[in-house]
Amino acid sequence: MPAELIEGGPIAEAIKGEVRSALSGLSRPPKLAALLATDNPGAKYYAKSQEEACAEVGIEYELHDASRTGPLASAEEMKAYVRGLNKDASLTGIILLVPVPEGVNPRDVQLEIAPEKDVEGVHPANIGRLFYGDFSLAPCTAHAVVRMLQEAGVDLKGKETVVVGHSEIVGKPAVVMLLRSMMESPTVTCCHIATRDLALHTKRADVLVVAAGKAGLIKGEMVKPGAVVIDVGINRVKVEVGGKKKTRIVGDVEFEAAREVAAAITPVPGGVGMVTTAMLLANVVECARRQA
Ligand code: NAD
Repeated sequence: MPAELIEGGPIAEAIKGEVRSALSGLSRPPKLAALLATDNPGAKYYAKSQEEACAEVGIEYELHDASRTGPLASAEEMKAYVRGLNKDASLTGIILLVPVPEGVNPRDVQLEIAPEKDVEGVHPANIGRLFYGDFSLAPCTAHAVVRMLQEAGVDLKGKETVVVGHSEIVGKPAVVMLLRSMMESPTVTCCHIATRDLALHTKRADVLVVAAGKAGLIKGEMVKPGAVVIDVGINRVKVEVGGKKKTRIVGDVEFEAAREVAAAITPVPGGVGMVTTAMLLANVVECARRQA
């Protein structure tokens, strides 16, 4: 029997419902500022979808586009601009759109964002809280992974759980968040680019979380029968449809093959991505609470 689908849509809707009811208790709608320092089409597309998601729940969105605000070419210029946004009391949260201009380390700019306006949950002050089980302002994608497992009713206690990927925004925080409880945590293994035998680990995973950014990295035979698979990857691949080349979005897991083996799996698109966006909205609400 093919695996059950853990779809992002209904979970994202539930989170948006929580956001709407939290917003009704605030004296004014929160406002999210996004800083765009390049004319990258992907970043612009991302900004537009953030704006739409904010509008859906009643959060104001303000795009600070360097093509209009004046050039932001260096880290110093970007950091100075962020300091201005930090001081602006009308702004609840700040998000940095990537890519940033060449030669600028996005992390240096993100660190400048005040922790109480850090909607992406990447400031050390917020990342540090994860360590103590406080996920109130957590990195959105890692939080989405944990929430999806919860919503799917997966009992993690003692389960062999393998996270593929150890980036600061997804893999590492996911590992820490999965280990949240002294008594109920799974046994977590983190695999990465230097892992010698990836299949050895994935094949024994009751829960497999994949965030590597490599289409087709996880083949069907690398999935344990009955596993729960959370595919975080978003990859654009060219496929031939009716003699024409088309671009498709796929995850890191070979979906059809894995679906034959797993008990439950997230689709791409329509899985973790949708929940991640909803988590961003929830983080805006948390920023508003902290500033109130
Ligand atoms: P990253 O490039 O920063 O990190 C990739 C990680 O994968 C690294 O830890 C690396 O060691 C590991 N890795 C790479 N190749 C590997 C291999 N062959 N075997 C084992 N490990 C390998 O990427 P990221 O920012 O963590 O994002 C990962 C993926 O998740 C990307 O496809 C990205 O687009 C996607 N993503 C999705 C969402 C979402 O909302 N669904 C959000 C953020 C990122």
